[in-house]
Parts: sequence; structure tokens; C-alpha cells
Amino acid sequence: MTVWRASYFDGLQSAASEVEIALTPAGLWLGLPKGELIIALDRLKLVEPIGSGQPWRIELADGGMLDVIDGASLAKLVGRQRSWLGRWEASLKLALLVLPLLALFLFAAYRWGLPAAADLAARAVPASSERWMGERTLQVLDHNTLAPSRWPAERQAQIRQRLTELGGHAAPYRLEFRRGDSIGANAFVLPGNLMVVTDDLLAILTQDELMAVLAHEAGHIEDRHAIRGILRSSGLALSISILIGDTSSLVDLLVSLPIALADLRYSREFEEEADTYAYTWLQYPGRTPCSFVRALQRIEQAQSGKHKRQLDKLPDWLSSHPDTLDRMNRFQGHCPQG
Ligand SMILES: [Zn+2]
Repeated sequence: MTVWRASYFDGLQSAASEVEIALTPAGLWLGLPKGELIIALDRLKLVEPIGSGQPWRIELADGGMLDVIDGASLAKLVGRQRSWLGRWEASLKLALLVLPLLALFLFAAYRWGLPAAADLAARAVPASSERWMGERTLQVLDHNTLAPSRWPAERQAQIRQRLTELGGHAAPYRLEFRRGDSIGANAFVLPGNLMVVTDDLLAILTQDELMAVLAHEAGHIEDRHAIRGILRSSGLALSISILIGDTSSLVDLLVSLPIALADLRYSREFEEEADTYAYTWLQYPGRTPCSFVRALQRIEQAQSGKHKRQLDKLPDWLSSHPDTLDRMNRFQGHCPQG
């Protein structure tokens, strides 16, 4: 038979007296100053401590109470575990430790887990699906925003010919020419190694400047930014279902993609990667990174000029080259002073 010691308060006097209590087959035996008392276990009112360091307490029907020393072992024996809430409250230190860890975990999952899952899923998207996405998106754009190019076919062929100079991994790239009054001087890429340039862009750039812009767009293609961007912005669930081979969500993606792509804005990370690709390409003999600077300057000028008013209303993907001045710094060093 196990015996516990407890401080007994009779409810009348503030002073406590030390008593013993014990567990018997009949119930809990209390050796109170006024006499013995046995309480059946199903009528025992055992109160859980609120904070750590507080005792378990037995409340008596007559208003008296006992603070039990090592009451936890008594509680365990009579089948009263501390509730989770009680344990939690008692473990403030644990809570203070766990909450920042949880926050850190959630942040890491969002900051790195989501892009990593999206990038992994992007690799699982077959080239044929990507090609379909690009073509379908171009159809939608042709319907809403773009018109056939007025650029002479032989000039188009010349530029396509020069495209072979870019010769990256994903080449041959497919280059499409379009007129897009509302998007002004612009170039962008779509999934399936597809580049689109507008007549207005061709009108303001020299061939070398155009090649610098196309080298940047090639960078977007080489690093698969279109499909990675769309998967990153679609959230984790879609990436995971593609990774586990759930083709129905891939079909959903294909259907919704043209609209989603039209709202896609590349992250600064992607823009810098594409810039780096162009920068490397432009350092070969016979080329100069300064071509990219001049091209961006002309595009800025054109966009802040006659198209300014329409451009304000444009979707984000059309203004996908923000912070132009920032980005030009490393290219600028290659421009003649003055
Ligand atoms: Zn870009």
C-alpha cells in the first residue's frame, strides 16, 4: 500500500495540518485530524494543477481540501492523467521553443519547398505537353491581343536564320512574329521553346540589339522559366499531383494555362538568370553586352512614349522586365563612356 503525504486545510482555519493518505481496495483513505475518511474512487474529486510546480488537490464535500505531495503518482494510479491542455500550460518553455520552430518550418516549406516541388514537377511535364501549352496560349493571344506581323517574310527568315547563333540546349527555338499594338515593343517566351517578338520591337532595334534581347529570351527557355513559373504560381498541390503521376491535374493545367500564362510575371530570380545567360552569350568575340543596354533603353523609351497609356492597363507579363536600371549595371560596364 502506497502512502502519500498531504497538507490538509479544513476550510475554517488558514493553517494546514500534515496528514497521510493511502489507496485501499475500498477507496482513498484519508487520515484527517478529525478522524479517518474513505472516499470511493468514483466520488473522488481530484483537481489537476494549472501550472507546473502546483500540487494536485483533493476537494472534500465539507469544503476542506488536501494538497497532495507527489500527487501526480496518485493521479496516475487512480487513472487520472493530466490532460494535454494541462501539460501544455505547464510546459510554457516547450511552447516557446516549439512555436518558432513551427513558424520556421512553415516559412521554409513556402520559401524553398514550394519552388523545389514546382521545379521537380516541371521536369515531369513532357515536351509534347509543353509544346501544346505554348501553341494553345499563342492561339488565345492571337484571338485577344495579337495580330499577324506586317514584317516582310524575307526579313523574318533572315532573323530566324540568325537565331541559330544562339544555339543553346533547347534550340532550335521557334520564333513567331506578331503585331501587338497594345503591348508595344516586346518579346516574350511561351512553353515549348517558343519566342514571340512584336513588329514594334523589330522597328526600334538593330539586328545586334535584337539578338541581345533574344539571347535573354533564350535564357528563359533554357532554364524552363515559363513552365516552372506557372507551376510555382499554381501552388504545391498541383506540383505534387503531377509528381505522383495524377494526369487529370495535368489536363486541368493544360486547359487553364493560357489564361494563367497571360498573368504570369517572372520573378526577379528568373530575370537575373536570363540576364546572366544573355550576358555570357554577349561576351563572345564580335558581340558586346552593351547591345543589351541599348536595346533596353530603346524599349523603355518606346514604352514610355506612345504606348504609355495603354501599357498602364496591361497584364503583368508584358511588364516582365522591371527594375531595368538595376539590371543594366553589369552590362553597362561594356558600353563606351560618354
Ligand atoms: Zn525576361
